[in-house]
Amino acid sequence: MNPRIYYTKPSITELEVRYATDAAANGWGERCYEYICRFEELFKQHLGVKYAIATSSCTGALHMGMAALGIGPGDEVIMADTNWIATAAPIVHLAAKPVFVDILPDTWCINPELAEQAITPQTKAIIAVHLYGNLCDMDRLLAIGEKHGIPVIEDAAEAIGSQWHGKRAGSMGRFGAFSFHGTKTLTTGEGGMFVTNDSDIYEKVLTLSNHGRSRSQTKQFWPDMIGFKYKMSNIQAAIGCAQMERIDELIFGKRRIFRYYLKQLSGLPIKMNPEPKGTVNGYWMPTIVVDEEVPFNRNKLLAAFKADDIDGRVFFWPLSMQPMFEEKPKNAVSYGLHKRAINLPTYHDLTDAEMERVVCHVSNQWRQ
Ligand SMILES: *Cc1c(COP(=O)(O)O)cnc(C)c1O
Repeated sequence: MNPRIYYTKPSITELEVRYATDAAANGWGERCYEYICRFEELFKQHLGVKYAIATSSCTGALHMGMAALGIGPGDEVIMADTNWIATAAPIVHLAAKPVFVDILPDTWCINPELAEQAITPQTKAIIAVHLYGNLCDMDRLLAIGEKHGIPVIEDAAEAIGSQWHGKRAGSMGRFGAFSFHGTKTLTTGEGGMFVTNDSDIYEKVLTLSNHGRSRSQTKQFWPDMIGFKYKMSNIQAAIGCAQMERIDELIFGKRRIFRYYLKQLSGLPIKMNPEPKGTVNGYWMPTIVVDEEVPFNRNKLLAAFKADDIDGRVFFWPLSMQPMFEEKPKNAVSYGLHKRAINLPTYHDLTDAEMERVVCHVSNQWRQ
């Protein structure tokens, strides 16, 4: 029997164990924020941003960031239809409305022209989600944001390691949000990061993240507003510090796996994650999209994976197909692409022999 292949798994070494153990044994009292501060510093340096706040999740970072932008009842936030629910949920929690626009067929990220067309007087932000490590066209989106006076937010949960013309994903928008969930390239189990270069929004999120207690407030236990409680613990941050010391290795591991699949699957009627000139893709999830005119049965491939104990993962469904939202079949790329696409397993200790098993099942789809 072949060993099971997971769709993803974190890379945890002695270093993470040592730091987490130290935090559990010693990181209390006056040392209770040490790893958190260090993790934020390391993350800022890596990304090249001025401010970072560690959070309990990317969802929480997005929620606080959008609250700090003043997004509220009746407002609209534009985002791609093909997405994970975590980007949309905080918009709904703020009583605003996610407006789903179609994606580009090659990057699977938001179509900037359609984003611009979707702008109304109620639009308060555009969210650029860098799907599976692929980059949104940040030049176009930032120009549109500038022209209409609308902030562009980056959901870079899947894009550690991705770079847009020398700038790291998450560092270009009004603010950026990252996830350190166990499935992501860098993990703290659960966790996230809010980043920005804007001192105003940083101060606002800092206050919101501390249950509305401002740094300048001298009265103890005196909130100035209703805030949030989306903090990261020192123990999680300790794991994060170890992961940051290994960040280049973690990103390289993802790129190694992608390159292997790309090479072994070349010649098949598929496209994989693009890496346009001037960009670097962190390749969080190697993904295949079968060419449109070619017959393909996604469920058949998933069944073949399952029979061989390989985890298959479906491409994100359009959010507007889901029961909480109004259907939007005119987002034709989003509605068509997911049927022809799946994510392939990717983690650091995945061996060539294991990847070859995956490659075999994919290739078999077109073997007579
Ligand atoms: C994982 C993910 C999130 C949510 O991250 P959490 O840390 O689980 O809140 C948000 N957006 C995208 C695009 C993601 O992939």
